[in-house]
Amino acid sequence: MMLKDKYDVIVVGAGPAGSVTARFAAENGASVLMLERDREPGIPVRCAEGVSHEGIAPFIEIDESWIAAKIDVACLHAPDGTNAKMYNNGAGYILERRLFDKALCDVACRHGAELLTKADVIGLLWEKDKISGVKYRYFGKIHEIRCDLVIGADGVESRVGRWAGIKTAVRLEDIDTCVQYTLSGLKVEEGCVDFYFGNDIAPGGYIWIFPKSKNSANVGIGVAGHLSHKKGPQEYLNEFIEKTYPDVKKTYTVCGGVTTSATLKEIVRDNILLVGDAARQVNPLTGGGIAQGMIAGSIAGKVAAEAVRTGKFDKKFLKKYRKEWDKRLGRTQKTMFKMKEKFMFMGDDRFNKIAKICKNIPKEKFSLKALFTEAVKGDPKLMADVAKAFVVSKLKK
Ligand SMILES: Cc1cc2nc3c(=O)[nH]c(=O)nc-3n(C[C@H](O)[C@H](O)[C@H](O)COP(=O)(O)OP(=O)(O)OC[C@H]3O[C@@H](n4cnc5c(N)ncnc54)[C@H](O)[C@@H]3O)c2cc1C
Repeated sequence: MMLKDKYDVIVVGAGPAGSVTARFAAENGASVLMLERDREPGIPVRCAEGVSHEGIAPFIEIDESWIAAKIDVACLHAPDGTNAKMYNNGAGYILERRLFDKALCDVACRHGAELLTKADVIGLLWEKDKISGVKYRYFGKIHEIRCDLVIGADGVESRVGRWAGIKTAVRLEDIDTCVQYTLSGLKVEEGCVDFYFGNDIAPGGYIWIFPKSKNSANVGIGVAGHLSHKKGPQEYLNEFIEKTYPDVKKTYTVCGGVTTSATLKEIVRDNILLVGDAARQVNPLTGGGIAQGMIAGSIAGKVAAEAVRTGKFDKKFLKKYRKEWDKRLGRTQKTMFKMKEKFMFMGDDRFNKIAKICKNIPKEKFSLKALFTEAVKGDPKLMADVAKAFVVSKLKK
């Protein structure tokens, strides 16, 4: 593949955030190169693959080829065994991420972005204290390529931000350590995802069962980083599986970290911006970051193209991206972060109460608003905690 000597924008990483960023930047007139260190976008998969329809539909035409299962029920399991089903028709999907990520990347390329795989970015180029491109390793050789704007979409272990001097570290309690097996030979309820809560099951996190077919599922666990030193997530998960599915086969194992913080304080500097997991644009309550990364990417890509049109790549101009992101989701993420802080230290009796509240809401009336209303009736203290979380985050805006 013949690359140009210089691009307007280089996107490091072709995950959901990187591909959507590249697509929107290219679609709006920028010359864009995506550099991806793996052989193909989307491989290896390190994800439970659950998304909401409304999170992804604005960015890609829904295609059965990358949907493993459609979801319209979520079942919450409390520590005392109470379970409550929340119905929401056509709410979401379990993806085949190796195909989904590739499809997103194809969309970016159809809109004019270029992609080079097996290109491991190993550093930034600087000219007179200004970022002017990247260095990457490709088949054992080091190459340099210049650009006006570098976009770090290099995931949870992002190095691009650090190279630019941005503080990307988060507190241990804001990282969930996750382990997941794909299990085959188990019976799953079609259209239903299951979540198990409890301090003896998954302290500071939860266990999920996301069906991939009639008899296979992604079964995983996330445990808050500071609560996993005595007993690791794999031990918790193995215990759960031995108890719940003693005879099933584990076919694929995934380990990884998920950040559950608010967005990083700083996500832009002169000639650089961060997007997706690299910027910690993740739902702190669930750890889900696919849709969030895509939404952030759509904003980042448009701002990048505008920077190219106007020739302004300084931090002051790029802050537009931050502003738009905060308006769209950043503030909500902050509120959710406060709520997570509350939920993380919730006793098992609280989980039991919430499940009972959910159980009492009739199927046809279920909505988050209904859950809130019932929560006030059933447990004013819980509502006060949540309301406080909202107020605190609003005051801090
Ligand atoms: C166990 C687990 C389960 C999860 N389950 C869900 C879920 O069900 N739903 C959900 O929404 N989210 C889930 N997540 C989170 C989700 O996977 C991420 O939020 C999402 O992938 C973020 O997208 P991204 O594009 O920012 O980063 P990524 O998808 O991580 O993409 C980053 C890309 O950058 C590339 N890269 C990194 N460094 C370099 C480099 N130096 N040079 C070139 N390329 C580089 C990587 O190879 C990768 O392709 C889960 C995460 C884990 C660990």
